[in-house]
Amino acid sequence: MTHAPPKDADARRAAPPVICYKPDTLYVPPLDLYRKARAASGETGRVIVPPREARCFRVTAGSFFRITCPEGAQVGDLNLFEARNLDEHFYSGKTRALHGSHLHVGQRLWSCLPYLRPMATLIEDSLDWYGVDDDGARVHDVIGTRCDPYTHHLLSGQDYHNTCHSNLTRALAEHLRKPLTEAETLVHDVLNVFMCTGFTHDTGQYFMKASPARKGDHIEFFAEIDMLGVLSACPGGDCGSEHSSDTAECHPLEVTIHSPPAGYLDGWYSPSYNRYSRRHAPG
Ligand SMILES: [Zn+2]
Repeated sequence: MTHAPPKDADARRAAPPVICYKPDTLYVPPLDLYRKARAASGETGRVIVPPREARCFRVTAGSFFRITCPEGAQVGDLNLFEARNLDEHFYSGKTRALHGSHLHVGQRLWSCLPYLRPMATLIEDSLDWYGVDDDGARVHDVIGTRCDPYTHHLLSGQDYHNTCHSNLTRALAEHLRKPLTEAETLVHDVLNVFMCTGFTHDTGQYFMKASPARKGDHIEFFAEIDMLGVLSACPGGDCGSEHSSDTAECHPLEVTIHSPPAGYLDGWYSPSYNRYSRRHAPG
């Protein structure tokens, strides 16, 4: 410590926490409507993401996408874009501020400014039993950005090309037929599906531990808008030991798309852009 605390330091520390964004002012998504539509849905698409690789998928508004561990525990790093306007993409920071560090059923994935609208709603999570453990860890975080080759090189001096950042870059480049350098600028902070993470109590450092996912575990979303998704199967596997690794046991991930028949979503509308005037000045 280099600075003496003031006399009223304890009183200052005792100020009550105030939730920055109270969730009770957010529109509550109609989960019952979504679930009825999902129960009537048929599978309309399937993509397998090989270990240490990424793949793109498309999903239309009013459909569902499920991410499954078909063989065993595997962390996935997810990017989402509006299907025709890649400038609108997932905003992990504001999603974290609105909902918390880890996502639960009923919460939503929000798009970046100036769009700021729900892209997807989490409707099913087979790991919802995990809750919070004694280390303060939870599953499915919007904290951890993504593993990337730059941080890896910074810390190890080595080149490693199968980080989630590079996997997402290669998959986007191939899907969009763009050069790698152009595709790379589209990659953004992710939702870490199946990843088990927290902050250490003493130093506040971001930590990971082995994902509790087992074969068949899944997380599922309702698509509020038309989307291009990109999912990387992290080279850390269950992220129980290390990132950016060719030795961690890795598994594939599976994305399945499910679409309901007409009439099951009556009363639901794909959300419009945020209605702020964008004048940025009073008067
Ligand atoms: Zn990763």
